[in-house]
Amino acid sequence: MESGYLQVYTGNGKGKTTAAIGLCVRALGAGLDVYIGQFIKGMRYSEIAALEALSSALGPGRLVVEQYGRGCFIFRDPERADIDAAREGLSRARSALESGGFGLVILDELNVAVKVGVVAEADALALVAARRPGTELVVTGRYASDAMLAAADLVTEMREVKHYYREGVQARDGIER
Ligand code: ATP
Ligand code: MG
Repeated sequence: MESGYLQVYTGNGKGKTTAAIGLCVRALGAGLDVYIGQFIKGMRYSEIAALEALSSALGPGRLVVEQYGRGCFIFRDPERADIDAAREGLSRARSALESGGFGLVILDELNVAVKVGVVAEADALALVAARRPGTELVVTGRYASDAMLAAADLVTEMREVKHYYREGVQARDGIER
């Protein structure tokens, strides 16, 4: 089998989501179709604008990007609507995985969705198990559960050695968001 592995990018250091987007660019260059679903996030991070432009340039079906979040609730408790949005995301992600039509599927921040309780761990595990042979799946987000790590074929842990946010630097457009 040439592809079809589960990759998990986790840890507290910077670079998980951007690594996944880098892989998206590489996969598109090789002719693979790519689906990206972002849990938690509802804000238009700068990569969304670039990916939408790329999607339009490539034409229908080559690059599909969807957001399943209502904005950042990491600083508040999730509400019913956050859970409903995540459930809708699970369903969309499952359709993408079961279609078998994508060579690469990225589920950004799925680990965080499990950690904060908007996605049940069992549902996340069932989702990653639903991918078809030939679909490479990347799951990102800090706090990957032990069961998700066990299910993965590849795990990369981004470890914070230094980060300027400790010096008070806020998230910047184009660099963090
Ligand atoms: P990136 O999206 O840059 O690849 P990531 O996916 O590894 O990073 P996340 O855990 O998703 O990182 O965090 C989103 C962004 O917020 C990261 O760029 C990270 O550097 C930044 N960040 C995390 N914690 C803080 C903080 N306390 N203050 C400012 N920025 C932060
Ligand atoms: Mg991230």
